Amino acid sequence: MRGSRVSTTVLAVATALAVALVPAAGARATQAPPVPAPPNHVARSAADLARAWRAQAPATLVVGRSVQGRAIVATRQGPATAPYVLLVLGQMHGTESRGRDVVAAVRRLAPPSQVQVWTIVSMNPDGAARGSRPNAHGVDLNRNFPYLWSPGYTNRAYFWPGRAPASEPEVRAMMPFLDRLRPDLVVSLHQHFNAVDLGTGKARIWSLRLSAALHLRAVDVPCSTGPCHGTLTQWFNQDHPGVGVTVELPLTVPSTLAATYARAILRVGAMLVPPAG
Ligand SMILES: [Zn+2]
Repeated sequence: MRGSRVSTTVLAVATALAVALVPAAGARATQAPPVPAPPNHVARSAADLARAWRAQAPATLVVGRSVQGRAIVATRQGPATAPYVLLVLGQMHGTESRGRDVVAAVRRLAPPSQVQVWTIVSMNPDGAARGSRPNAHGVDLNRNFPYLWSPGYTNRAYFWPGRAPASEPEVRAMMPFLDRLRPDLVVSLHQHFNAVDLGTGKARIWSLRLSAALHLRAVDVPCSTGPCHGTLTQWFNQDHPGVGVTVELPLTVPSTLAATYARAILRVGAMLVPPAG
């Protein structure tokens, strides 16, 4: 069919936003044409560029690959032109699998009106396949993001931040994807502290909303024995207008509870839309 045409698709929004979008195998993704330059080459805002990128992005795309070459796949529900964007990340640590079930449940639900819901089952498919918390390099991906990255760690097997900021392909896949998608809210699912990370500043109101909807306490989730460094949500909250919240699911999440959590997350996603009037 379109195999030869969709094997590699280069979407050039602007030089800084150039990205290879590879529709996932089997997905009925169409080739996203380059976004035309604005009239008179007037510089557009980052929000405008993100809106244009989203409008032309395939509904299923490979945002990058793991150390061992496994695809990290993002999927959209809802119209590509929906003005508000929710992203749910099901898994970052390979030993924490229940968030994947929540993502599967989200995908069975209708997205809120005016919200496009993006989901990624796992940004650590190698860890998931190996049953290990870190990626195939032994790196804790939630210590490898560049903001406040630190070479220190308390336990090499669990918290090694890698040899340098964003040294890992999984992190280097997620960063440009989040830059271009520019989600309003990122819900990053983990286990099993059984709480919503309270966060700071702009994140706090969304942490409280998620806490209320999920019936999980809102607390400062500790990062081992010291301050957090190099986490996805720290980096996202620092460098983007949107909000990232870490949600720590319980140890056990039966399928009915996963569905309950999925509905709760979408109820919070609906709050991205300002009330009418
Ligand atoms: Zn985790």
